[in-house]
Amino acid sequence: MPSNPRAEQVLEGWADDIAILYEATTNDPADMRAASEAAANLLSGAGSHFLYAPAVVHSLVSNAIETGYITALRDVRDGKVDNLQLSCGHFLGECCEPMQG
Ligand SMILES: [Zn+2]
Repeated sequence: MPSNPRAEQVLEGWADDIAILYEATTNDPADMRAASEAAANLLSGAGSHFLYAPAVVHSLVSNAIETGYITALRDVRDGKVDNLQLSCGHFLGECCEPMQG
């Protein structure tokens, strides 16, 4: 990362804020594992761009993705997502097969 103490300080401040948001959102170990795996898959699928990103950037982006993923899992579980079509073609809540996972 280019040496710019002020920019690094600002970036670390944002990373800390996102980390606090992540900590406030997460409390279920299974959701945390699923979110971590999803974020890792997403970032590795983005190629080398994030692989060589500074640790603070990687942490900020991962925590933001995981926070959103966990929030989405919770919303689906709480029935707040309408018209979610499953891979079997049925809609959530109308599927005849048991939910996996
Ligand atoms: Zn189904």
